[in-house]
Amino acid sequence: MAAEEKKEIIVQGISASPGIAHAQIFLYIQSDVEVPSYLVDAEKRGEEVARFDRALLATRHQISKIKQEVEKNIGPEEALIFDAHLMVLEDQALIGETLREFESTGRNMETCFNKVSARYIKAFSEIDDEYLRERGGDIRDVAQRLLQNLLGQAENALSHLAAQRIVVANDISPSDSANIDRSAALVTDSGSKTSHAVIVARSLKVPAVVGVRDLTKRVQSGDWALVDGYDGVVILNPSETTLFRYGKIQEQKKSFETRLFEANDQPAITLDGVPVTLLANIEKVEEVKLVQDYRAEGVGLYRTEYLYLNSARMPTEDEQFLAYKTVAESLAPRPVIIRTLDLGGDKPMAGNPDLFPKESNPFMGFRAIRFCLEHQDIFKVQLRAILRASAHGKVRLMYPMISGAEELARANAVLRTCMAELKERGQAFDEKLAVGAMIEIPSAATTADLLAKECAFFSIGTNDLIQYLLAIDRVNDRIAHLYEPTHPAVIRTLKHIVDEAHKQQVPVSVCGEMAGDPVFAPLLLGLGVDGLSMAPAWLPSVKYLVRAMTMADARALTAEALTLSSPKEIYARCDAFYRARVKME
Ligand code: PEP
Ligand code: MG
Repeated sequence: MAAEEKKEIIVQGISASPGIAHAQIFLYIQSDVEVPSYLVDAEKRGEEVARFDRALLATRHQISKIKQEVEKNIGPEEALIFDAHLMVLEDQALIGETLREFESTGRNMETCFNKVSARYIKAFSEIDDEYLRERGGDIRDVAQRLLQNLLGQAENALSHLAAQRIVVANDISPSDSANIDRSAALVTDSGSKTSHAVIVARSLKVPAVVGVRDLTKRVQSGDWALVDGYDGVVILNPSETTLFRYGKIQEQKKSFETRLFEANDQPAITLDGVPVTLLANIEKVEEVKLVQDYRAEGVGLYRTEYLYLNSARMPTEDEQFLAYKTVAESLAPRPVIIRTLDLGGDKPMAGNPDLFPKESNPFMGFRAIRFCLEHQDIFKVQLRAILRASAHGKVRLMYPMISGAEELARANAVLRTCMAELKERGQAFDEKLAVGAMIEIPSAATTADLLAKECAFFSIGTNDLIQYLLAIDRVNDRIAHLYEPTHPAVIRTLKHIVDEAHKQQVPVSVCGEMAGDPVFAPLLLGLGVDGLSMAPAWLPSVKYLVRAMTMADARALTAEALTLSSPKEIYARCDAFYRARVKME
């Protein structure tokens, strides 16, 4: 039946990243490879070995193809990892042992290979040598791919999305999110506005709607859909009338965005002459170009965990140094705040169950600085890389998830050890490196006065601070409506942090999603924050508003908000403030 004959269905979700897309759906179902086990008849054993050889060949082809793509699109350094993967396939010990296992047990090749590779992965993960441990990660990655080929499973990875499709998934893992730019739009059954895939989608200007329960069960790959990321709506089998209406909306939005972008080259100064520092959040080295294009005054948050999430192994000191140095050098003399590793929570490192055991409450668990202080060998590799990059630009270092002064002191002690190590090696770094802390845990907010004594700057992570203050899981769509940035508890806490920091001349910026929303930006500026850091794509709309408002009005808005008790009412005041100054038409 032709697609036009299917009935139009409108589904409501949560608006997560603005924009409109009309395309065919790619249903993305992630599943672990399940390995069947059976005996192969004696007369079929030759064919079984041939099947194994074909899977090896197919895997080799796929990896070589990915290597070429990465080389072309990202760079030769980043493509090196795939050489290591190809070497795994050449490994005579691994392959030979698999064949011997097959000869002695007569079980299918999947079972034999799975057993042998698991033994190798375990052995490598226990070796006390960083290089060899990383080889375990390579084997795991390749083994997964080889098993998929043996099982005849189509590759179900976003990295191979052929044309621009609307990706419909149950959820998108942070490592999958690296490939979101290949999609026309993103729709997920679960998730919320501050889940990491959404943050990445917004940075890449990919429209997204989340919390569309069970949509994966209602659609198939190839179905047509329209995604309205502004209002959080997904329209399945859109009619001609709907497409025409959305065509008009899209035109209107485009002309509004062009108007916003006209202020791109203008300074961010309010009508009463107060300059506002606007910074960018980045996840990857390539985003430096966006920072430049959108005229950000620097990077207020470099989420370095993406270097780890997209790799089957821990990145080496040199690999990290290269990434940090590239960012620092390209943007100098603008400052770049490099945040140390924030893995865990909604950013678990895939395929590393030994380092990241499953937790029932990951946001309250083994995350960020807690992980780093426990695994100082991993932490030190990163600290040395950041320190070395500090010799090549205006680098600042920031710790995530600091809960109090003692934890900060422990992190700084490790940093000092790394400084001593570099001195011993004769490698340069900025001896006056500014070190700051994210304020995103209520205990850090309450003890801001103590932390300010030991910090050169603060950056408030509202994404986490709100979830911990209000006890609202930031990625749970069922309670997403309770995640309220304008809750009085949030505003009062922000005020406390800013006031305590300023008493000790410690500057405070905000790098959570709240900073990039023009509805909330005046509220933050009215509290006296010194900088706003956001996905580069948001800079034009915030700058436009800054240039259309006075700081005096922002302070009055905040003062009034501090007297109100209803989050909805405070939101309405903020929204009215914005609408009075920025007209869509
Ligand atoms: C935050 O929590 O606000 C923040 C910026 O950090 P992340 O979103 O990476 O947790
Ligand atoms: Mg955070």
